[in-house]
Amino acid sequence: PHGLQDVLRELGVEADNAAYCTGRAWGGAPNADRRVINAPADGQRIASVAFATAADYETVAQAAAEAFKTWRLVPAPKRGDIVRQIGNKLREYKEPLGKLVSAEMGKILQEGLGEVQEMIDICDFAVGLSRQLHGFTMHSERPAHRMYDQYQPLGVVGIISAFNFPVAVWSWNAMLAAVCGDVSIWKPSEKTPLTAVAVQHIIKSVLADNDIPEGVFNLIIGDATIGAALAADRRVPLVSATGSTRMGRKVGEVVGARLGRALLELGGNNAIIVTKNADLGIAIRAIVFGAVGTAGQRCTSTRRVIIEDSIFEDVKQRLLAIYPKLPIGHPLQEGTLVGPLIDGAAVAAFTGALAKVQAEGGKLLTGGEVLSGPEYAGGHYVRPALMEVENHYATVQEETFAPILYLIKYIGEVQNAIDLQNDVRQGLSSSIFTLNMREAEAFLAATGSDCGIANVNIGTSGAEIGGAFGGEKETGGGRESGSDAWKVYMRRQTNTINYSTELPLAQGIKFDV
Ligand code: NAD
Repeated sequence: PHGLQDVLRELGVEADNAAYCTGRAWGGAPNADRRVINAPADGQRIASVAFATAADYETVAQAAAEAFKTWRLVPAPKRGDIVRQIGNKLREYKEPLGKLVSAEMGKILQEGLGEVQEMIDICDFAVGLSRQLHGFTMHSERPAHRMYDQYQPLGVVGIISAFNFPVAVWSWNAMLAAVCGDVSIWKPSEKTPLTAVAVQHIIKSVLADNDIPEGVFNLIIGDATIGAALAADRRVPLVSATGSTRMGRKVGEVVGARLGRALLELGGNNAIIVTKNADLGIAIRAIVFGAVGTAGQRCTSTRRVIIEDSIFEDVKQRLLAIYPKLPIGHPLQEGTLVGPLIDGAAVAAFTGALAKVQAEGGKLLTGGEVLSGPEYAGGHYVRPALMEVENHYATVQEETFAPILYLIKYIGEVQNAIDLQNDVRQGLSSSIFTLNMREAEAFLAATGSDCGIANVNIGTSGAEIGGAFGGEKETGGGRESGSDAWKVYMRRQTNTINYSTELPLAQGIKFDV
């Protein structure tokens, strides 16, 4: 159905793919544990994939460590040229790859294609960056001395990714790591390994065309046990992990215990503040896209809307007019805006959260049903829920990775809304809708939003790659993608050079021997 078999053939995702790839060749035990990946849209088998063993991990880790020895010597702009070619190859395969992302993850085709576009964009960004890995120069306090800092390649970067952005998040990390002179080991989500296999095929052809040695871009398929091996591995100086706060706490502890670097991109509990000075037309569109887009399965999905008392009813009625009409269906079907959840466990988390919020006093305004019937057969479809709640409810304080939108009222000053928005443990994305300059600036001030992302008149979800992406508090503190996020992928060094005939000491210290 939907031409998926052709897509799998074109992308080289066949049933006999092995459990790992070190860049040029696939490998793994012939009797590997194989798992079937079913489409969240209809439960149909897409393909099976082999899972790696601990021995496979060792092979991959060694290949990566070996490859780093030579890759770090390739001039950065030349490394950028390889990334440029990867970007061009992704352009060629955008359609089938976008379709596979949509089929395997369940996001609508437009978003699947958007995710591939994000990979292409980060390639372009990384190519430019490959000529701009700048440090500063400083003036020494000593005569005839020069001081500067420089950035050197760091080593093997472990990338653990989540199911909801099965390929884009990897590319944010891997493309920056590559131009920085690092090699990478990618452990995709066990729920979405096929898109990773497809991408690795594309990478592999570029590596072969350029005679790049084994081990520069590695893929290993597996579940949390392989992720845990990466976290514990002293040969991996940086582990970039995207997923739940539960996972991040474990990975952070293990990497921290060996004093490695962990870049954590964890859960959000994102809010949009709507003041009486908002342009409600754009606010409502941003709220709906943020809350139901990707069926509420984005780390930046809008979970809470904090609305000024005098416009609360108006906003609620406008949302109530839209929610029952949302086109829910197969993600590859044209016109669908809301696809399925990833699996049955996600549906159970959705219904469980709705029950708990109601027990806490929350009011279900519309939606919340698990959908059945022939058009939904075999899939994990729900109708997005709209609820009226209070911010302090235990369930509202949690991230439920499903389309539940909580409406919360605020009274008085905009600072009251900001305090509510900050009063959760997560700190990823936030926005305010207002045309009032004082309110907007209050939101961006030191006493404003405490999130890694704070937007004015733009929703919480759908970040551009040019900015640094990530969040505070239980979101983990990591930043990746644009701005100067590249620095975490490099080893920073301060250099002082003396070209005088004396040896003056810093701080004027006298030490005559
Ligand atoms: P998850 O935590 O279940 O899994 C994410 C990845 O971590 C998977 O590859 C998994 O195998 C691995 N993993 C799990 N336990 C591990 C352990 N102990 N050691 C090492 N690896 C381990 O998350 P998910 O369900 O795939 O994704 C949804 C979550 O991801 C949500 O909380 C969402 O907010 C978050 N997310 C955050 C961002 C961000 O950039 N902040 C982006 C996307 C998703």
